[in-house]
Amino acid sequence: MAAQLHLSVPLPIRASLSSSHRPRMAASTTSLPGRKLRAAVIGGGPAGSSAAEALASGGVETFLFERAPSGAKPCGGAIPLCMLDEFQIPYHLIDRRVTRMRIFSPSNLEVDFGKTLLPHEFIAMLRREVLDSFLRSRAESCGATLIPSLVTDLEVPASENSPYVVHYIAGEGSRRKEKLSVDVVVGADGANSRVAKAIGAGDYEYAIAFQERIKLPDEKMRYYEDLAEMYIGNDVSPDFYGWVFPKCDHVAVGTGTIRAKRDIKLYQRAIRERTRPKISGGKVIKVEAHPIPEHPRPVRVRGRVALVGDAAGYVTKCSGEGIYFAAKSGRMCGEGIVRASEGGMRTVGEGDLRREYLKEWDGKYAATFKVLDMLQSVFYGSDAAREALVELCDDEYVQRMSFESYLYKRLAKGNRWEDVKMLFNTIGSLMRCRIVGRKSEVLSF
Ligand SMILES: Cc1cc2nc3c(=O)[nH]c(=O)nc-3n(C[C@H](O)[C@H](O)[C@H](O)COP(=O)(O)OP(=O)(O)OC[C@H]3O[C@@H](n4cnc5c(N)ncnc54)[C@H](O)[C@@H]3O)c2cc1C
Repeated sequence: MAAQLHLSVPLPIRASLSSSHRPRMAASTTSLPGRKLRAAVIGGGPAGSSAAEALASGGVETFLFERAPSGAKPCGGAIPLCMLDEFQIPYHLIDRRVTRMRIFSPSNLEVDFGKTLLPHEFIAMLRREVLDSFLRSRAESCGATLIPSLVTDLEVPASENSPYVVHYIAGEGSRRKEKLSVDVVVGADGANSRVAKAIGAGDYEYAIAFQERIKLPDEKMRYYEDLAEMYIGNDVSPDFYGWVFPKCDHVAVGTGTIRAKRDIKLYQRAIRERTRPKISGGKVIKVEAHPIPEHPRPVRVRGRVALVGDAAGYVTKCSGEGIYFAAKSGRMCGEGIVRASEGGMRTVGEGDLRREYLKEWDGKYAATFKVLDMLQSVFYGSDAAREALVELCDDEYVQRMSFESYLYKRLAKGNRWEDVKMLFNTIGSLMRCRIVGRKSEVLSF
């Protein structure tokens, strides 16, 4: 299949493509006589595969570039229930159905999150190598052409009528240089995005996350049958949390930090220390580390290039969750291009990408990201605040509201009286724990 691609195809695009001020899609696009709109999707993670699937299903000629189809993205692999339905992910791909999330405070106070879950509800734990390869294959079966290759450069045209040229080294482990001309580009190449650099999209603050996959003896693995753990405290991270997420026959144990990246290995040692009785005797089978974006990039659309997933910076700050948002933004962008190009029949411009993708995305998620940003700064600021967070998590109303928003990605319907109670509880917990925090600081001198 890849043989047909080893050539640079000139694309005679005559229309003026990138004016962000044009009012309507039909006015800013031009028909493509005799051929379909051609899109390159760079990166075959959840964002890229979902974009490629939407594009190919909608009639756009789609090329999906992935440098390591047999690799595994460093990731905890926890996804919300709604993703299984929305993205039709078969249940047999799930390693574990977690119904209890045990949270440990800095002083090791523990609370089980999950009391309010209904019998069919759970957090799905998957291995990324399994999920990603499924999503990529589905994009292929919808008509996308997978090109296993490292993209080395994206040539941005000097004229707005000319094609973008994707330069790549074809095949895993090969040195053969190739190029492909396309009309539109989706940058889904993760946190170190080359596409973002090529279009001058600017930088974002990021956390570095470290994770070890540890194979446990069967009797120890039984403890994690349907249980995941979160550890918070200055020992495991000054601004993130440590986790133990169960997989088929191993656990993923990791932590992250934004402020103190150089100390990440110290924090990893601390999370191992805190979990020692439960993971001792285990064998480390994989060690991995990767950046996690902290906020969206200054630019997410430029010309006929759109960034999605981690490349755009769509990870929630409080939880470090990005898989669902990657897949969702990829799909939203792909569908937006299909709409604007009328099924691949017309060219698209920057205005179309802004209107059909960015506006939709921001309308749906900007507020959610802001709220989670705020929660992180309130609750991850100090050990005292973290104690307050864990104390609050014991409340059933807090659990129901948090789980509903996480599992279904919608704001749970609240109860006014309970909301007021929750507000007072929050203030009470913060005040109590700040006092506890001060006392313990005094005592430690
Ligand atoms: C340690 C860790 C744990 C995490 N745990 C969770 C979790 O439990 N749940 C959750 O929701 N999120 C988690 N995240 C975040 C989540 O992994 C990301 O948000 C998500 O993977 C983003 O998907 P993506 O498709 O945008 O990017 P990626 O998954 O990074 O995919 C990018 C793809 O592009 C390919 N690529 C990159 N450059 C090139 C190139 N030049 N040429 C060709 N291909 C290229 C890469 O090989 C990769 O396959 C975690 C992140 C880390 C680092």
